Amino acid sequence: MLISELYSLFKQYPSVQTDTRKLQKGDLFFALKGPSFNGNEFALQALEAGAAYAIIDEAPAVPDSRLILVEDALTTLQQLAGYHRDQFTIPFIAITGSNGKTTTKELVNAALSAHYITYTTQGNLNNHIGIPLTLLRVKEDAQMAVIEMGANHQKEIEGYCQYTKPTHGIITNCGKAHLEGFGGIEGVRKGKGELYDYLRANKGTVFAFDDYDYLHDMSKGIEHIVWYGTGKGTITGQVKASEPFLDVTVTGGVAFHTLQTQLVGDYNLPNVLCAITAGHYFQVPDAAIQQAIEAYKPSNSRSQLIEKGTNSIILDAYNANPTSMRAAIQNFAALHAPAKVLLLGAMMELGQESKQEHQALVTLLQQYQWNQVVLVGGDFKGIAGPYLYFENALDAKAWLQQQHFEHTHILVKGSRSTGMERVLAEG
Ligand code: ATP
Ligand code: MG
Repeated sequence: MLISELYSLFKQYPSVQTDTRKLQKGDLFFALKGPSFNGNEFALQALEAGAAYAIIDEAPAVPDSRLILVEDALTTLQQLAGYHRDQFTIPFIAITGSNGKTTTKELVNAALSAHYITYTTQGNLNNHIGIPLTLLRVKEDAQMAVIEMGANHQKEIEGYCQYTKPTHGIITNCGKAHLEGFGGIEGVRKGKGELYDYLRANKGTVFAFDDYDYLHDMSKGIEHIVWYGTGKGTITGQVKASEPFLDVTVTGGVAFHTLQTQLVGDYNLPNVLCAITAGHYFQVPDAAIQQAIEAYKPSNSRSQLIEKGTNSIILDAYNANPTSMRAAIQNFAALHAPAKVLLLGAMMELGQESKQEHQALVTLLQQYQWNQVVLVGGDFKGIAGPYLYFENALDAKAWLQQQHFEHTHILVKGSRSTGMERVLAEG
């Protein structure tokens, strides 16, 4: 079946689903394969559950006119997404980087949606399946789309750009994340730089943080760059206060001079400046930009502040890599609090540099005074030095429950797979 024909079906049945458990009547079901499942095996079940059609890539055991056999269901999903994207002449803003993509996406979307009808990535659906699904959710009334792109190896962003066709792009930063797949920090720059490569070739616009020298190098040859930064740029701003939340002094570019966020952590400064810049660039009224960013409150285990009894918990357990760990530890160290406790889960996907990076964090921790430090799992094993070590988050939780801390600030952070948020779970 031609993509244009499939697109006619999509126009009739615009809700795409890849998971039979979430299927609703009238959905288009795409039978994708994963490491431990084969969607083809669920195609008939999907039809029974009410799917209008099922797109499959293995010959069915029982023929059915609602089964559409294609060469590769995932590629077809991506092509359909690309075809849909081509129906729009609105800005498509792509966001990638090592850290802060989701937060930046949320803030940029908040600023833009104060004035436009926008569509954006739900949660963290930023991969080869999530991006096409996000594109396919962009409706006719859209005036802008904000798309998060995650990547852990070369050529990934290039592939996403082929069907997302971003008109605007943001690389939040290039840090020490996914070093394994990218092949070191230079590899990270090259991989994330594929977004700039696409925008350079297609005369797109980049929003970039002036303070990072490497973004200047990487963006060479791009005609339209809108800078923001602490010193120079279309929008400039600095950290005004950090406790409990980040307050920003805005020193240029817009009518307001301060902005009070509900985000924990100075590392959110570039994310906030980026959102102001995007809003300003697209002529969202200044007051609406300010109001939208101030109203944004994370509820996604990122930069979140939770008051529990007399304790203040900073929950930042959505991900962790050397750059974001360092930022979180330094931020926590600068906080004024009567007592400070850290529960840090291991970092993943660091390849050969993993042990060394965990060791470097233990060394960094020792530069400060803490009441307690608990390290959990992975490559923290055997190198915890003066600190407590537990195999997993549940053991750390058991320990925490015995401590009965009062008037204490507690930082909880770790890789997604260490599940550090469980240390706070009830029961
Ligand atoms: P993922 O790769 O999981 O999609 P992400 O890039 O979307 O992550 P966020 O979820 O926004 O990133 O933030 C994850 C964590 O990264 C934050 O909680 C914080 O610790 C750190 N972080 C956020 N912004 C920055 C930044 N600008 N620089 C450094 N670290 C940051
Ligand atoms: Mg994300």
